[in-house]
Amino acid sequence: MKTLFSGVQPSGIPTIGNYIGAYKQFVELQDEYDSYFCIVDQHAITVPQDRLKLRENSRALAAIYLASGLNPDKISLFIQSEVSAHAKAAWMLQCTSYIGELERMTQFKDKARKQNQRDGISVGLLTYPALMAGDILLYNADVVPVGEDQTQHIEFTRNIAERFNTKYNDIFTLPEIKLPAVGGRIMSLNEPVKKMSKSDDNQKSFITLLDDPNQAAKKIRSAVTDSDTEIKFDKENKPGISNLLTIYSSLTDKTIGQLTEEYKDSSYGDFKKDLGEVVKEFLIDFQERYNYYLNSEELDEILDAGRDKAARKADKMVEKMERAMGLGRKR
Ligand code: ATP
Ligand code: MG
Repeated sequence: MKTLFSGVQPSGIPTIGNYIGAYKQFVELQDEYDSYFCIVDQHAITVPQDRLKLRENSRALAAIYLASGLNPDKISLFIQSEVSAHAKAAWMLQCTSYIGELERMTQFKDKARKQNQRDGISVGLLTYPALMAGDILLYNADVVPVGEDQTQHIEFTRNIAERFNTKYNDIFTLPEIKLPAVGGRIMSLNEPVKKMSKSDDNQKSFITLLDDPNQAAKKIRSAVTDSDTEIKFDKENKPGISNLLTIYSSLTDKTIGQLTEEYKDSSYGDFKKDLGEVVKEFLIDFQERYNYYLNSEELDEILDAGRDKAARKADKMVEKMERAMGLGRKR
């Protein structure tokens, strides 16, 4: 069986963009792969976090993974900082990475710009891709289901793996990226040329999976649309309505073609009202499952079992990496 790895940061409550770009794929793939799903809290601290909030978000994220439909009997769900192999791998891979290539990462450039206006930029924000490469390579993952924004980081992971394999020892599998067919990049609701992000400062730009369903419908109704009135999919010229069509299609079983046909004589207002209802119904069902998991004793047991299974695999790989680089004594 091939292996799958994917992570989400507990940097806030996941948005419907994260659901469509990431969680929805996870559920579809869990039967086909030996799957590792990680709550990447060490990635979250590359920018400042409130300590209590971070812990709360990590737990919430675990319940969100499960509410999305992951089956804890099949997959391994765990928190990154609880498996020490991740930090060890990150250091070895940082020593295999070059500053220049890390500085070229668009996520670094975007987040650094934002951080610079606040508290300064941490070294961790720059070396983030090396930690992420370690996350993936530790499990010999064949596929990594992510949204489009992660393409550059996966490419970096492949480069680093290849470099390590050539320079030290051929131990890593080169992972393939797996993007969703529709919804790999859900855009901000008020600035549809920017990706929707859970750490955005503007609450109107995103809908989280835990938003009040009525408020969420309202956010959809007030989402920015384009100047003419036609409901048509055209990312370049009509980013607002195209984004809403993508969200609609991803949360229902209707294709974008079916939707544009169905709404060809409707106004933006009618379309947004219906999509608001779709989002509202989706959130009501989702939150029911979420609340069940968040309040169940099962949650900690699932995270403990996930940690133990992940550590067994990751520790072996860390040993191989250390051996390849000559760290420690001969065992
Ligand atoms: P942050 O702003 O803190 O980076 P984020 O919303 O980008 O948060 P991540 O935890 O970085 O969320 O990413 C989790 C997963 O969700 C990744 O697979 C990422 O590619 C995917 N993803 C993030 N944003 C979107 C989006 N707007 N559309 C589709 N997928 C997305
Ligand atoms: Mg992100």
